[in-house]
Amino acid sequence: MSDTCLFCRIVRKEIPAKIVLENEHVVAFRDIDPKAPTHVLVVPREHVESLDTATDATMLGNLVLAAAEIARAEGIVGGGYRTVMNCGADAGQSVYHVHLHLLGGRRLAWPPG
Ligand code: AMP
Repeated sequence: MSDTCLFCRIVRKEIPAKIVLENEHVVAFRDIDPKAPTHVLVVPREHVESLDTATDATMLGNLVLAAAEIARAEGIVGGGYRTVMNCGADAGQSVYHVHLHLLGGRRLAWPPG
């Protein structure tokens, strides 16, 4: 846990967020600046900066499985959805607590910008 990390603070409920799922491994909440009708961020409870520094395959798998569970709950499986993990500056990572974006509810362009 980091004292100052934004997502650690959301995990600790020090900062409000629209939480859609939480379990012993992850917390998932709606993105404050949504890029699709469903835009949820899934974060591990422990502080890991990015995919580049992640070493725990189970932790990473838990993010993906939670995203799939949320997609089912949001009713976007039929239309399809996307998961994205930005890593580093060129990918646009802005919060250095590893997180998986879940996007859906509209047609998504490919490739992303
Ligand atoms: P990334 O750019 O991949 O690091 O994604 C960080 C995401 O966090 C962005 O999509 C932001 O809109 C989102 N975000 C930033 N602050 C908050 C917040 N307080 N609550 C929810 N989402 C946030």
